[in-house]
Amino acid sequence: MANTPSSASPAVNRRVELFAIGNELLVGQVLDTNSHWIIQQITGLGAQVRRALMLRDEYDEIEQALKSALARRPRLIITTGGLGPTDDDLTFRAVARAFGLEQREDAVALEMVRQRYAYLATIRPNFSADLNEARRKMALFPVGGVPLANPSGAAPGLALELSSDPAAPVTLVCLPGVPSEMKDIFTTSLQPVLAHAIGAGGYVEHTIVLDRGDESRIADLLQRVQGAHPAVYVKSRGQKLEDGLRLTVVLSCGGDDLPALLAEVTAAEAEAARGLADLGYSVLRIVSN
Ligand code: AMP
Ligand code: MG
Repeated sequence: MANTPSSASPAVNRRVELFAIGNELLVGQVLDTNSHWIIQQITGLGAQVRRALMLRDEYDEIEQALKSALARRPRLIITTGGLGPTDDDLTFRAVARAFGLEQREDAVALEMVRQRYAYLATIRPNFSADLNEARRKMALFPVGGVPLANPSGAAPGLALELSSDPAAPVTLVCLPGVPSEMKDIFTTSLQPVLAHAIGAGGYVEHTIVLDRGDESRIADLLQRVQGAHPAVYVKSRGQKLEDGLRLTVVLSCGGDDLPALLAEVTAAEAEAARGLADLGYSVLRIVSN
């Protein structure tokens, strides 16, 4: 089915853009699992990821991508990667260049870095806790950036307000590339930022599992259901499930009013189930998120 908005509250800006930064992603050495995980989290909060791109570790690429993202005025721009101590980790510098900000050593961020290496020195033999230049670089923040504590690594994340228009705020969040660190920041120190930017929202997803295949036979029906429920994303999919390859119809919707989302998805599901029965399909089961 066609891609449709899967949000029941279009008036609220919950648009999110993602950038996964790292050459290793674009030579196929590493699969971009960060974007997949973040997309699931953002969708679960009732927000909508509008775009997810992989970018090389190059200033111009990152700068351009960030500037054009800001021009589209999403509520949140999230990057992963490029926060570490090595030379190819250049996200903060690219952010500073993109938005004309100075970079300064942030005392809070430096303390986070210091504590991490002090801790590592207690658990690793012959490990120096000295803050050399490469380590200090992780605290060189674009001015205005707020550090996000990293519970499992050295590089703090960053949250930065990009818009001076209070009516159209845009927050940039930079997270490390290491998936476990990215997830740990996301689920801890980033939560207040997300609560402020996105608020309390939710996501409802119902999956109708059918007894047999042939998407072409149900295309018209799904188009009708989609037309009648524009806020619901209606998607048919061949899916590999425990009992084999099945045709599924997934109805989903995100937004801030959970009871309304549930009512909308349930109504669309009932309409789809009726139409499928008319076409001779049996519904094996319905899975809810
Ligand atoms: P970085 O923070 O850029 O130094 O990334 C550290 C490591 O995290 C990389 O060497 C990759 O192995 C991994 N990594 C970076 N970006 C991603 C991503 N988008 N998805 C999965 N793993 C990643
Ligand atoms: Mg990198």
